[in-house]
Amino acid sequence: MNESILTLSISLLLFALVFIPYLWFTQKKRKKFEAKKQEAIALGHDKPIAQHPLIDQSRCIGCAACVIACPEHALGMIDGMAELVYPGKCVGHGVCAEACPVSGIRIVLDPAKSTAELPQLDENFQSNIPNVYLIGELGGMALLRNAIFQGKTVMDHISEKIKRSSHQKTDPSRYDVIIVGAGPAGLSAALMAQKNGLNYLLLEKEETPGGAILSYPRQKLVMTMPVEIPQYGVLKKRELSKEDLLELWSDIIQKTSLKVNCNERLDDVVRNIDCITTVTAAGNRYNGVYVVLALGRRGTPRKLNVPGENSSKVAYQLLEAVRYKHTHCMVVGAGDSGIEAAIALSKQQGTTVTLINRGADFLRAKPKNQDRIREAENQGLIQIYYQSSVSEIQDKSVMVQSPEGSLELSNDFIFIFAGGEMPAPFLKKIGIEFIHKDRTIAA
Ligand SMILES: Cc1cc2nc3c(=O)[nH]c(=O)nc-3n(C[C@H](O)[C@H](O)[C@H](O)COP(=O)(O)OP(=O)(O)OC[C@H]3O[C@@H](n4cnc5c(N)ncnc54)[C@H](O)[C@@H]3O)c2cc1C
Ligand code: SF4
Repeated sequence: MNESILTLSISLLLFALVFIPYLWFTQKKRKKFEAKKQEAIALGHDKPIAQHPLIDQSRCIGCAACVIACPEHALGMIDGMAELVYPGKCVGHGVCAEACPVSGIRIVLDPAKSTAELPQLDENFQSNIPNVYLIGELGGMALLRNAIFQGKTVMDHISEKIKRSSHQKTDPSRYDVIIVGAGPAGLSAALMAQKNGLNYLLLEKEETPGGAILSYPRQKLVMTMPVEIPQYGVLKKRELSKEDLLELWSDIIQKTSLKVNCNERLDDVVRNIDCITTVTAAGNRYNGVYVVLALGRRGTPRKLNVPGENSSKVAYQLLEAVRYKHTHCMVVGAGDSGIEAAIALSKQQGTTVTLINRGADFLRAKPKNQDRIREAENQGLIQIYYQSSVSEIQDKSVMVQSPEGSLELSNDFIFIFAGGEMPAPFLKKIGIEFIHKDRTIAA
């Protein structure tokens, strides 16, 4: 009898020794992933940008192989099931689908209907407007490899058309092709145009080429697949840092003397009766036979246009509030995005947060956010400057014009949420048609 009580006690003890730490560990992880999910919702990153995993909950065995495999930390385990907890971080390279041992993950564009509103393009990426092409993420597919491949392919197609056409080059100021956007897709297209001897023009709204790569977190490990970059050869590396990738593009641009007109933002595209398209950017008008739009899908945030805004401490989105612990952060803009970013930052250990509000209230924000920001202000978590604006961004401070006069506030990072323009309304404005496509794609 005594022996069986002893055996039972030992078994219970062993069970407790294993089970309690396991429970504690899974609860801790769950809390971490829940917090991440809430942060994504609060910061408006709860929708995927392009292709992303769809997890079949009936197949998921909760092994977390996908969570470990995801290099962007977009997945998490909640209640024993894998979930896309931070959709905005997903770049859709599908490593998770490959890692899943029960084939429970598909890479899709839209989880609910497997359809997505995308520009209507033919197999050569031509839109409904003749001779106007859309490539890269703008066409609906993310990833560097896709962008580079599409840039090269579209320009091969255009070069063939030019060769076959009887178009006379009577006007030297008329470009064979105008490419807009110097991210991987636009750069690849321009390199191919150069290789094929076309008279090309490459416009970029930012000060430097690079596109979305410029916004990757510092030292981010970029994952890609071998892909041929025109005028360079095959990029064989599967993994490289953001900095190495930017250096590679910069080397290619320098060695090939690729012309990039930076600081020229596309404003309009108009097709003329003579089949020539006029593009206006930064007050300039350019005529081209073909136009390739490689604008990405991340939109154009509105700038403050103040001195110092080009500093690397300025951002137009907040990806991970946790990276700003123990810093002085400033948020500009009192709409929903600004308020949510300020609140997320205020929850970080040792972080001071100031919010610059042009107005005297928060009427642009949802009522719930108005309550949250007032509560944070009352608790002293966020210092708010009303009827104020930023006049200059300096290395360690920001100059603010307030009703009390000019103030110099200590600052390490500044996040600007002054609104912006997403590419879809712009495309619709210039006449590009959209369709709902069934685009469930294999990983
Ligand atoms: C944080 C993050 C991590 C990522 N990690 C990876 C990864 O590891 N591996 C991977 O393969 N992919 C990754 N991606 C995805 C990849 O960066 C994109 O799919 C790719 O950059 C798309 O290239 P693109 O040229 O189509 O668009 P973009 O790179 O977005 O470039 C568009 C360009 O157009 C310019 N532009 C926009 N509007 C205008 C205008 N009106 N006038 C003039 N110029 C304009 C923009 O300034 C920009 O330079 C990541 C993306 C992000 C955001
Ligand atoms: S597709 Fe890539 S980024 Fe998205 S969850 Fe899977 S592994 Fe992560």
